[in-house]
Amino acid sequence: MKKLSLITFGVIAFFAVVAFSTSKKTTSNEPLKIVIDAGHGGKDLGTTDESILEKNITLKLLQKIKKLHNTKDFELIFTRENDEFISLEERVKIANKNNADFVISLHVNASNNKNDNGIEAYTKTNNTEQKTISFVSSLVTELSFNNSPLQKTEMRKANFKILRDSKAPAVLLELGFISNPQNKAYITSEKGQEEVAEAILKSLKKMK
Ligand SMILES: [Zn+2]
Repeated sequence: MKKLSLITFGVIAFFAVVAFSTSKKTTSNEPLKIVIDAGHGGKDLGTTDESILEKNITLKLLQKIKKLHNTKDFELIFTRENDEFISLEERVKIANKNNADFVISLHVNASNNKNDNGIEAYTKTNNTEQKTISFVSSLVTELSFNNSPLQKTEMRKANFKILRDSKAPAVLLELGFISNPQNKAYITSEKGQEEVAEAILKSLKKMK
């Protein structure tokens, strides 16, 4: 009986070692590579409302994310850091070349209906990516703590190039409607942009 339990223990120990070495691989200490893609830029203004240009808001958001990033858990890679035109092909190439673990494309929305508000999160059409779903739900939770006007969130699937052709899980975020007065005031303000940047960073921190 004693001998048997010793053998059993040995078998369990063997599997434990195997499990440990495999799990070690997946939870490596290598920082995750997160690509932040500020939508539009240069001649591509994105959506506009009088003097407000989507390409400037997405760049401001990116700059806030860069400034507030203070963890070694993940490294940030940017597709643009200036007001320059970068093709969609180039954006995808940057993500794939860097072996990104996750891609976030930043945008803001506009609609003919001034009442339309909140976030639209677009995912791949074949999306079953738990990473993306957890990221978006965390983002919404973080924003709700701040009483942000960007709490209403819809998750949709889309065949956008940045989603389709990025090898990594990817999400395209439409962060509020500049056609909605409350959303516009929030997403063009320093405070609003910092809250959104912070919520994105906190949600990335949970990703391991
Ligand atoms: Zn856009």
